[in-house]
Amino acid sequence: MTSYDVIVIGGGHAGCEAASAAARLGARTALITHKKETIGVMSCNPAIGGLGKGHLVREIDALDGLMGRVADAAGIQFRLLNRRKGPAVRGPRTQADRRLYREAMQREIDAIENLLVIEGDAFDLLTEGETVAGVIMKNGQVFRAAAVVLTTGTFLKGLIHIGDRKIPAGRVGEEPSVGLSETLARFGLKLGRLKTGTPARLDGRTIHWDRVGRQGPDEEPVPFSFMTDTIVNRQIDCGVTRTTDATHKLIADNIHRSAMYSGQIEGVGPRYCPSIEDKIVRFGERDGHQIFLEPEGLDDDTIYPNGISTSLPEEVQEAFIRTVPGLESVSILQPGYAIEYDHVDPRELQLSLAVRKSPGLYLAGQINGTTGYEEAGAQGLVAGLNAALAAMGREPFVFSRTDSYIGVMIDDLTSRGITEPYRMFTSRAEYRLSLRADNADMRLTPTGIELGCVGEARRTRFGSWKRAYDDGHTLLKSLSITPNEGARYGLKLNRDGQRRTAFDLLAYPDQTIEGLRPLWPQLDAIDPRVSEALQIDAAYAVYMERQAADIAGIRREESAAIPDDFDYSVLPGLSNELKQKLAQQRPRNLAQAMKVDGMTPAAVSLLLSWLRRQE
Ligand code: FAD
Repeated sequence: MTSYDVIVIGGGHAGCEAASAAARLGARTALITHKKETIGVMSCNPAIGGLGKGHLVREIDALDGLMGRVADAAGIQFRLLNRRKGPAVRGPRTQADRRLYREAMQREIDAIENLLVIEGDAFDLLTEGETVAGVIMKNGQVFRAAAVVLTTGTFLKGLIHIGDRKIPAGRVGEEPSVGLSETLARFGLKLGRLKTGTPARLDGRTIHWDRVGRQGPDEEPVPFSFMTDTIVNRQIDCGVTRTTDATHKLIADNIHRSAMYSGQIEGVGPRYCPSIEDKIVRFGERDGHQIFLEPEGLDDDTIYPNGISTSLPEEVQEAFIRTVPGLESVSILQPGYAIEYDHVDPRELQLSLAVRKSPGLYLAGQINGTTGYEEAGAQGLVAGLNAALAAMGREPFVFSRTDSYIGVMIDDLTSRGITEPYRMFTSRAEYRLSLRADNADMRLTPTGIELGCVGEARRTRFGSWKRAYDDGHTLLKSLSITPNEGARYGLKLNRDGQRRTAFDLLAYPDQTIEGLRPLWPQLDAIDPRVSEALQIDAAYAVYMERQAADIAGIRREESAAIPDDFDYSVLPGLSNELKQKLAQQRPRNLAQAMKVDGMTPAAVSLLLSWLRRQE
């Protein structure tokens, strides 16, 4: 029997990050997945990033994860979303060439030391008492491990729906995973059913491109990864068109034939990523719904029509798609479909993504009720790191909502659970002014270096960048002027007699380092690599100071840890119902306990004072 420190099951977005993170920490790691050739497959839309999601990719990258580098290698249309808004809510996004993405991910996985890929179907988990001790394969092989990370995506009892056709599958053309779902139920974990959907794929050679609008890439693509110097792929346009009255009528007339609306699907779907049926039923017909025609690759004629995911029968799909301008004679390469699958209630997990009831087991990705590659990748990184830390006898590492979107997501999932597939939005982060995509490296790379998951190349590059930043910061803070002196250079400052540093002046609208050079020629010494970061930090400095006090308070609160075996029955002032909920949900710390339904300020202070007495 072969044995490993960490086994990761599933070579999707969560699994690749988990395996890579565990191996980077030095754990002997195995990645068990159905087929090597499907490692890094994008199940749905060929794009990475976007609002909130782009932040997650930058954070994965800051910890030396794979997704940012791979997206840079595969990106064919980079766009910085919300460019005209403040840096806090800008979202880097790229469309990706599916083949290039998959190949780049497979290259990254192949190149990792300590990591072995094993092809096969993981069927059950080996246990010793309550503890998970390895994996049992469908062919009877057994692999032992100190920690196992499950990242099976949409495969657990996956069931595809196209009209009234039902096909057991994890993704189109791939077998579902049934054994593991039963294992999780046997462990007593609370499972639920969710659904998601995907549109038909179109043959681009049959589209009348002259009848649709165009959306182009940014002139200068901004890479995701701190390690990428330039984007080498040719950048392309995508098409833009809209549904018509005829489209809406066809869908409305056939709505009873959609798997979604004929009562065949019990799983809950994502509200913010509705199918075209949902759009027509819920939002009415409006004046048409926008469709982006996204090429799936540079040498691929397949087009992904973003905005019309559906579970209508194939012939209805073809008919309604052909009512859209530009698609009148389009050929469908693969019909759209909805997929239902089992997920685990994420309140079964600790902040490290360890399963409370089953020591040695970690879960990450769509299995935890999230949707999206980026959410999956970020959880994979956390689960992989913690599985490796546990295997090495080290303390778990948890991300805080105050330091990262990763922390926000995991706190939301483990303390509140989900009622629909969870995706990231910038609005979920209370400290979004400090959690920006542009400062992810500054926030997280030092943590990654301390943990040991950041490689030599990034450590060196980050070190040199940080020195340049600190030098620039010190210089900007060391130069100052009075309002009168400023007036001589055309600066309109409040005549309050106060000296202002060059750093303070950068907080003024439209003030740039370049614009201050006539005053202080020594600013030439600032390394151009860091000038944008300095400008953004200066612009946000006042808000950041205000947030710093709040964050310090939250950190103190978060640090009030609650032991996993805490006996809530000893707290005299709590209602029985609340005691039961706390005992069931087992919050790890006070911040999580505050989010338990029914927790009052009085109950919080009671719990806090009891915890303090234990310190
Ligand atoms: P996956 O990418 O699904 O990877 C799971 C991996 O585990 C696969 O490699 C599989 O082979 C392997 N595996 C599973 N079971 C076993 C086993 N027993 N043994 C060995 N290997 C196993 N996201 C959005 O953001 N927007 C959308 O509109 C959207 N639509 C979607 C539509 C469809 C039809 C699907 C399938 C997914 C959609 N998604 C969408 C979700 C997105 O694809 C996932 O969030 C993401 O891929 C999840 O990553 P993951 O790593 O958790 O799982």
